[in-house]
Formats: sequence, C-alpha cells, structure tokens
Amino acid sequence: MQSLATAWRAAGLSVGLVPTMGSLHEGHLSLVRKSARENDRTVVSIFVNPIQFGANEDFDRYPRDLARDLDLCGQAGVDAVFSPAAAEMYPEGFCSRVELRVLTESLCGTKRPHHFCGVCTVVMKLFHAALPDRAYFGQKDAQQLAVVKRMARDFNMRVAVVGAPTVREADGLAMSSRNAYLNAAERAAAPRVFEALSSAAALYRQGVSDADQIKRHVDERLSGVPLLRVDYIEIVDAETMRPLESVTGPALCAVAVYIGETRLIDNIALEV
Ligand code: AMP
Repeated sequence: MQSLATAWRAAGLSVGLVPTMGSLHEGHLSLVRKSARENDRTVVSIFVNPIQFGANEDFDRYPRDLARDLDLCGQAGVDAVFSPAAAEMYPEGFCSRVELRVLTESLCGTKRPHHFCGVCTVVMKLFHAALPDRAYFGQKDAQQLAVVKRMARDFNMRVAVVGAPTVREADGLAMSSRNAYLNAAERAAAPRVFEALSSAAALYRQGVSDADQIKRHVDERLSGVPLLRVDYIEIVDAETMRPLESVTGPALCAVAVYIGETRLIDNIALEV
C-alpha cells in the first residue's frame, strides 16, 4: 500500500483515504464519492480493528463480506482497497498505542474505555500506509471525527481530515453496519432515535439552550420506546466534545442507545 501511494504521489497525484470496517453501505459510499471528487486517487481501507473493541463487544460477530465490499468499491471507482489481516497490522511484538486525552473523556470515550486509543492507533497506521492528502470520516461518529482531527493536528500530520454528513435511511435511521443486527421489531423502534434528536434540535431553535432541559426532552421521547434502553444522552461542544451546561456556540446533541442487544449511536447539530 505504501509503495503504491508513494508512486502516486511521485507522479503528482493526490490521494484520498476512506477508512472503514467494511460491510459497506451508502454512508461509506458517500465518503468514497466525496474523496473521488476531491482527489486523483481514492483508497478504501477495510479492517475490523480488534484493538478498538472491548472484551464483551461485537468483534467476533461484526458483519464481514469482503467480496461484496470489493464489488461496491469497483462500481464506485475506488483505485485501491487496503484490507490487511490483523496479524499484518499487529504482528508479534507490536506494543505502541496512540492516546488522546480530554476529547476522549466524554460520550463513547467513557462508555468504551479503550475504544479511541484503538481507533487512533489504527488510523495512525492507515495514514502511514496510504499516505493520504485527505482522509474522510462521517459526522455520524462525531467524537471519532473530532478525535482524529485533533490527532492529525497534535502530531503535525500532513493529512487534511475531512468530515461528511450522516447518511440516513428514508425513516431517519442513521445508516450503520450494525443495523444488520436488528430484528424486525428492533428495526421498527430504531427511527425513534433520530426523531428524538430532531425534536431536540427544534427545541433549541425555539430558544431553549439549557442542556438539562434538552436532555430531559430527548429522554422523555426515548424512555417509552419498546426494546430501547438509553446508554447516554449528552450535549457537547462540537469541537472539544466537552459536556455543556448551556449551549452558546457550535454544539451537538449525541446519544447512544441499546436496541435489544445492539448499541447504536447518533447525533445532531444544535444550530439556529
Ligand atoms: P465504520 O465502517 O462504521 O467504521 O465507518 C467508517 C466510516 O464511515 C467512518 O468515518 C464513519 O463515520 C462513516 N460512516 C458510517 N456510517 C455513516 C453514515 N450513516 N453516514 C456517513 N458516514 C458514515
């Protein structure tokens, strides 16, 4: 991967990277298309990164379908797919980690203690493998986007970290590879998450800026939903991911819920 990217760069071609865990959907493909518009070459990485999963999480059953993913990448005009084995990424003796503070001390960072350390470590490796000018991440994983942006800045990396809007199903559910876990009843409950977030954004537009009041509003909308259990509801600064008491600048309302056994996350910008 690195020699291919080096050859492209030597030929004066710009490189875009879209890191994924595969099981590609329209959300991933929107990032691919953005990269293809903005770069001469686009690389998609497909790697279910073991070190970003907790011991009791879904690493083993995470959906994997490389043949289908390669087809989709081919149709989307991807120039290279980088799909390493875990033993290539983390050979015997591998002992480094990339650790960010503050930004990882809220939301999923507190609920999934080693998650972002695993994410930053693999993204650092992917950046060194594909040598991208630009790397594309979805706003759906807002904390991940903020963390990777911060890592690139903190380590003087020459890559531009580009965010792109969340792609949703017709009923509002944010697309996610994990939606495949949902049975029919769970799938029917899932759109209530975005309904609650949209309602929070509307409340903010009506002039409510108190975070507790907005969080209560979301909680009331989610608490009656069958099969759904709230993991967190938080209002955070859009850049630092610090929880806010009152919204005065760019902010997000972010939630994590369990629907049955499946943990889903989503967020919405609070803006006037
Ligand atoms: P994943 O394969 O879930 O690790 O996601 C790979 C990239 O795709 C990440 O940058 C995600 O934020 C992004 N992504 C996942 N779902 C969506 C979505 N529904 N809309 C936009 N981007 C997404």
